[in-house]
This record gives sequence, structure tokens and C-alpha cells, in this order.
Amino acid sequence: MNTAKKVAFLGLGHMGAPMARHLLAQGHALTVWNRTPDKAEALVAAGAEVAATPAGAVRDAELVVTMLADPAALRAVSDPILSDSAALRPGVHWIDTSTVGPDAVRALAGRLPAGVTLTDAPVMGSVDRAATGQLWVLAGGDPLPGPVRELLNALGEVTVCGPVGSGAALKLVLINAVVGGVGLVAEALRLGQVLGLPQELVRAELARGPLAGAVARTYADASHFPVDLAAKDVALATGHAPLPILEAVHATLTARPDLADQDLSRIRP
Ligand code: NAP
Repeated sequence: MNTAKKVAFLGLGHMGAPMARHLLAQGHALTVWNRTPDKAEALVAAGAEVAATPAGAVRDAELVVTMLADPAALRAVSDPILSDSAALRPGVHWIDTSTVGPDAVRALAGRLPAGVTLTDAPVMGSVDRAATGQLWVLAGGDPLPGPVRELLNALGEVTVCGPVGSGAALKLVLINAVVGGVGLVAEALRLGQVLGLPQELVRAELARGPLAGAVARTYADASHFPVDLAAKDVALATGHAPLPILEAVHATLTARPDLADQDLSRIRP
């Protein structure tokens, strides 16, 4: 490809690792960093460089991509980068693909040195779509810098949502509707069970109606969006407004610590 860039990729969890691998396969030169270093090994074997620190990872980068768990993780990674005045060179584009909400995005944007841009680009879609570059990318930054747009195009289908923070905001809206929908389907299945109905009958009939998409997500088997991350997204949303249904969903999710690291589909009976 003729648009190959020097990309620093920080955060090689369930989503970050396949996204980084996909960018590597697209011809980008990747330097990777992860808090738990072992997770970088497969990418190094595939041709990436590994850095010992976040600041070291971004030092020569044209584009920085972060894919981290939550606002605390984004701060833990951005603090050492921002406290090293030589780490980010002017002209660097930072793309945060984590789901952290608009407040964390704007806080980071306000701390960047002059000449460094930030695009929030959280994604819909799970590990299966991350691996194949078929994510649904919600970008905040209007207009998007050209190199940012090119990199995001490699990750999936890009929707430009508006100014910085708008991608993060729309992500909270969409994922909360999905998590709420899965929670509702799980309860409908539980009601069917209590009423003595076969689960396959309830599933099939629910899938004929307007909850079809939520039913499909409730039975997804190629996703890995753990219950604890779903609860984190609901908490980010309920921090912005009174949302009593989602508050009940949050209580349901956090009442099942045994499922914290399991895909959201496991909340069905
Ligand atoms: P994950 O597998 O738990 O990975 C989280 C990443 O954040 C890991 O690299 C982890 O490092 C790092 N991290 C956590 N706390 C940290 C800290 N204090 N300092 C430095 N690094 C820290 O999660 P994921 O599934 O990849 O999800 C990443 C983000 O994408 C989340 O915001 C999630 O909500 C969002 N998302 C997930 C999915 C999905 O289906 N999984 C789909 C769309 C969006 P370690 O490896 O050292 O723990």
C-alpha cells in the first residue's frame, strides 16, 4: 500500500490485538505496547516492533492508536506520554478507539501539546469484526485529518459523527441500547422458562419481532464483549443522565461476578 504509516498501537487486549494485527497486514509499520508485555509477543512474531514504555512506543509515530479498557486505563497510558515533552512530535494524530465516553476524550484533547490532533473513534462490533477490518467506527473530529481517515477506513466502516467527543458520545448511546436490549431478551427468556415454554420457541418468536437484532446478539458465539466491560459502558451512560432502566440493567450485570469476564450473551438463562 502507498499510504503505509508509522503507527504506535497501545492496548493489545481482546480488541486491540486483532486490530493491530489487521493494520500490520495492511502494510503499516507498527510499534506496539501493552501493560502486560506477553500480549505483544504474537504481534512481534508477525513483524511489529515492541516498546518498553508508552512514551517509547509513540516517539517516532505518525499515528498513535489507543485501545484501552476504560477512562482510568486511558489516563494511566496517556499520563506518562504527556509528561515526556519529547514523546509526541508535532503533526502526530492520536486516535482513541477505546470506549471511554466523551468526558475522558475531551479531557485528553485538552492536555495534548500544540500540533497534535485527537480523534475519538470507538467501535461497534467485537473481536471477530476487529480481525477482519469490518468494525463500525464512530469518529469524532470534523473534518478528520486525511491520515486518520485512511487508517480508520482500514478498521471498518467510518461514520463521522461531529466534533471531538461526538464519536464517544454516540458509542455510549448505541452500546447502551444493545446492552439494554440483550438484558431485556434475557429476561424475556427467563419469563418463558418460568412459564414452562421451550427456550427455542421463545427465541424463534422473539426473533420474528422488533427485538430480532437483540435476540441475535443474545445468542452471538463469535463475540467477546465481557459483562464487566458492558457494565462499565452502562455506568458511563448513567453518569450523564437519570436512566432508570439502564440502572436496573447495571445492577443485573454487576450481580453476576461469575460472568464478569464472559461474553454478554452468557447472561441469557
Ligand atoms: P480487554 O481485553 O480487557 O483489554 C483492555 C486493554 O486495556 C488491555 O490492553 C489492558 O492491558 C489495558 N489496560 C487496562 N487497564 C490498564 C491500565 N490501568 N493501564 C494500562 N493498560 C490498561 O478489553 P477489550 O475487549 O480489548 O476492550 C477494549 C475497549 O474496547 C474497551 O473500552 C471496550 O469497552 C471496547 N470494546 C470492546 C468490544 C469487545 O467486543 N470486546 C467491542 C467494542 C468496543 P492488560 O493486557 O495489561 O490487561
